[in-house]
Amino acid sequence: MIRNTLSLFLLALGLQSLSAQITDPKATEVWNPVPRVVTPGQGTQPPSDAIVLFDGTHWKEWQSAKDSSAVSWTLQDGAGTVKPGGGDIVTRRSFGDMQLHLEFREPSVVKGEGQGRGNSGVFLQNRYEVQILDCYENRTYSNGQTGSVYKQSIPLVNVCRKPGEWQTYDILFTAPRFNADGILTAPARVTVIHNGVVIQLNTEIKGPTEYIGLPVYQAHGKGPIKLQDHGNLVSFRNVWVREL
Ligand code: MG
Repeated sequence: MIRNTLSLFLLALGLQSLSAQITDPKATEVWNPVPRVVTPGQGTQPPSDAIVLFDGTHWKEWQSAKDSSAVSWTLQDGAGTVKPGGGDIVTRRSFGDMQLHLEFREPSVVKGEGQGRGNSGVFLQNRYEVQILDCYENRTYSNGQTGSVYKQSIPLVNVCRKPGEWQTYDILFTAPRFNADGILTAPARVTVIHNGVVIQLNTEIKGPTEYIGLPVYQAHGKGPIKLQDHGNLVSFRNVWVREL
């Protein structure tokens, strides 16, 4: 312990004296690699390197989670809406680390309460749910409200818009890492920005988000993004992703 402390002290001292020897500002400039150029989107448009998953006109990037058949959810007025009983839908592509943008709208006709009001969800890698729910003046368990990592992490604040108004999620996701033996070496992490406000900050995900029981990691590779049919008429538009 003392030896460790001493070596840290000597290291710090060494760095300090090394730093003192540098007098040229150019000595600490790094010119390579050069970040690739991305053109930002105008307004709500995606950036130039995004994969557009849903633009409101077709479901080509999606399929039924149950049997890979065509998506039966409703398409109308530039939005897609859950068709109750139509089942969950998943992207055809799979993703690891990502930046995901999506817009959702809770039904303007308010029905049900608690978990029964405007429930859907976005599952990262088909396993880790960021809850979508109408929590505008609607109480439920805190670790199951809008923007929770379902049953794992309570959002920092409730920033829900009123039912019928479009809302945004911007999600930064770091996939879990497993070694060759399938042992978890780093858990998944997620940052969620809801309507421009941070509600999850680098939150550690403890494993697949379970309705019943505790999360337990199992090794996996890239996975699709899933949107949940919870029987409520939640709508989506402008969904895009950037692989990181
Ligand atoms: Mg849900």
